[in-house]
Amino acid sequence: MQDRFPAQERFSDGAQYIAGRLTKGTSGAAHTVVDPATGEEVLTYELAGAGDVDAAVAAARAAFTGWSAATPGERSDALHRFAAVLADRAEDLARAESLQCGKPLKLTREFDVPGTIDNTSFFAGAARHLAGQSAGEYSGDHTSYVRREPIGVVGSIAPWNYPLQMAAWKILPAIAAGNTIVLKPAELTPLTSLLFAQAATEAGIPDGVVNIVTGTGRTAGEHLVGHPDVAMTSFTGSTAVGKRVAEVATATVKRLHLELGGKAPLLVFDDADLEAAANGAVAGALINTGQDCTAATRAYVQRPLYEAFVERTAALMETVRVGDPFAPGTDLGPLVSHLQRDRVAAFVDRARGYARVVTGGEAPQGELKNGAYYLPTLIAGAAQDSEVVQSEIFGPVLVVLPFDGDDEGIALANDTPYGLAASAWTRDVFRANRATREIKAGCVWINDHIPIISEMPHGGYKASGFGKDMSAYSFEEYTQVKHVMFDNTAVARKPWHRTVFGDS
Ligand code: NAD
Repeated sequence: MQDRFPAQERFSDGAQYIAGRLTKGTSGAAHTVVDPATGEEVLTYELAGAGDVDAAVAAARAAFTGWSAATPGERSDALHRFAAVLADRAEDLARAESLQCGKPLKLTREFDVPGTIDNTSFFAGAARHLAGQSAGEYSGDHTSYVRREPIGVVGSIAPWNYPLQMAAWKILPAIAAGNTIVLKPAELTPLTSLLFAQAATEAGIPDGVVNIVTGTGRTAGEHLVGHPDVAMTSFTGSTAVGKRVAEVATATVKRLHLELGGKAPLLVFDDADLEAAANGAVAGALINTGQDCTAATRAYVQRPLYEAFVERTAALMETVRVGDPFAPGTDLGPLVSHLQRDRVAAFVDRARGYARVVTGGEAPQGELKNGAYYLPTLIAGAAQDSEVVQSEIFGPVLVVLPFDGDDEGIALANDTPYGLAASAWTRDVFRANRATREIKAGCVWINDHIPIISEMPHGGYKASGFGKDMSAYSFEEYTQVKHVMFDNTAVARKPWHRTVFGDS
């Protein structure tokens, strides 16, 4: 694995990043990162225990005084330097991300890494535009204004599907706003969060502003969420774990931001460009081997186009080249782990009892048999209330269902507990506009599915959580608003005092 990315050599000092340096975890337990493409060992490291979380939180707390007092311009300069260091490290970041996740190099080189650098540049600029929105004499006798202040130490928890981008989405708005942070990546995928934190230090961001603890959710994660010196929890992961995180965070009364699961619909009206919708469905369903919270998972196709859509989508899925993430020409890599592959396979196997697997539905054999691969899979004929339509599968599986009227299509699109993202495909501006209004999701695309951009917010409705990542909207999570009120009268006995004592 050393030629893919030399993880063992780069993290020989440990996989915790506390106060600007790598250290070993002290939980007494170890974890092995495995290359999902081959099943080979990438890195064995000591997991973080409660003591490591305490040390990271103490480092973040110590750094908060200086970092929160830095001027917006100073923080902005540091983030610009950070973006430059990341750009220098782009190939390293891409290879490490591909290795630990099984993502094809073209995805990490063209999406994960440039997206992260762009996010860093965005927050370098945004750091200088944090302003309270109100100043005026609202009472007549006072001047009121609003200060936006950082919250303190942020404790963040990230999933394994986009480890680098999730680290960026959590760390950048938090530190741009003057907070300091302790991030816990998923234990399966710590490499790029550590590289990201090292790049921050190299860019001159002070020690302790960015800390990484790599441990299990139950041990390091819950300790971080419940920590009394952590002022805010920002969590991205499954809805089930998010509920547990909310319970622990609520017990210590802290700010909470939850980015949870998704089950995005792709709604194809009968006037849509069928070829565009089928291509969009395949790309939207298979991006990151379907391990994307906004992936297209439920295609609803208006009856006149249904049969043609099923046929075209299956044919396109069969052209997707499944293979080693580091091999040129690979479109689709393995899932993140054999466990995740087996979970996905189990969903499809259960669906065989009530639906039809049009294509895929199996792991490839031959030279790919040791990896966590699964073929692009299209399922038709499932009922709306069935498991494959309602539950997050998180693999390269698209379910397709027909609908008749527009009302029915929109109702079906809204009919899961989730509300993270959706797309509608039509050439009719009124239908498109209706879909954007009536679909309950944090993002609605028209005639596309997946693109994200640093300037625009990402976040859920319903069981997909609340709060926003990316964009200036994320500052709503990572700042608190203070009302400051100045008396302008300079009189000792103010008119309102009579409500408490005396008559005038
Ligand atoms: P997960 O919920 O299993 O784990 C997420 C993180 O939580 C990991 O770091 C894990 O170690 C930690 N964790 C687990 N138990 C914990 C506990 N009791 N206390 C604190 N932390 C704990 O999710 P996953 O399997 O890593 O990732 C896939 C999920 O993430 C999917 O549901 C996907 O939709 C979701 N996701 C959502 C978004 C979004 O923006 N809404 C983005 C990416 C992924």
